[in-house]
Amino acid sequence: MRTQPHRRAGGAPARPGQSLVQTSQPLSRTSVHVRGRRAGTVAPIRALADSLFQLRGFPPNAVNVYLAGDVLIDSGTRYDARRILRQLEGRPLAAHALTHVHPDHQGSSARVCDARGVPLWCGAADVPAMEDGDIPARQPPHRLNRISHRLASGPPRAVDRALCEGDEVGGFRVLDSPGHSLGHVAYWRESDRALLIGDVLFGCHPLTGIPGLHLPPAVFTPDPARNRESVRRLAALEPALVCFGHGPPLRDTAKLLDFVARTPA
Ligand SMILES: [Zn+2]
Repeated sequence: MRTQPHRRAGGAPARPGQSLVQTSQPLSRTSVHVRGRRAGTVAPIRALADSLFQLRGFPPNAVNVYLAGDVLIDSGTRYDARRILRQLEGRPLAAHALTHVHPDHQGSSARVCDARGVPLWCGAADVPAMEDGDIPARQPPHRLNRISHRLASGPPRAVDRALCEGDEVGGFRVLDSPGHSLGHVAYWRESDRALLIGDVLFGCHPLTGIPGLHLPPAVFTPDPARNRESVRRLAALEPALVCFGHGPPLRDTAKLLDFVARTPA
């Protein structure tokens, strides 16, 4: 990606690594988000690649939400609806798709879909969890799953399209990647080797948030062996950009391949 020397609204240049004012809109139509943002402007979100954006969150990279073309990928917890809707203001949205139906990915899905009038899509085998809302029934029987469900899940909602391997979503191709959930899917764009990997791998330590590659915690993963198969399948694509459900984007393909080589089958 070409890094544009955009300037923030105050005139100060953005620091390296800082979220930049980068949108597909002309710069004159954008502005740094401040309370009382000017009407008619588009909230800045971080451009990761062509037509691929990461929404801002706090702490940064902790619970990730992406915009792929005009499709919102994942929606954080039920507490993330406001920040998501605010950052989507002024942007076209055609649909909302999930990597998987867990509380920190579907939490704001119903609110976002209803507010923007867009359909909800998710992996076919995760449709029952989204529609009946009993997410813990599909997770390992650990009280952490019941607690996080109570605290973070959004309400159940009808799924408008069950995604299958090979479907096109926002310019990406759906890849089945079960294990962390039965119907987990990843999104892959061959042209620039960008991969939205969901929680097949974490890009940070699950507790400390320190960047680094980790398998998802077994307590949240009903079939760890199958998830490791999904890890190997996705790593074999040799992605140039990996966007995680949790953790900062990774552009170091060798690091991913090295991690997978050290991961037991
Ligand atoms: Zn997650």
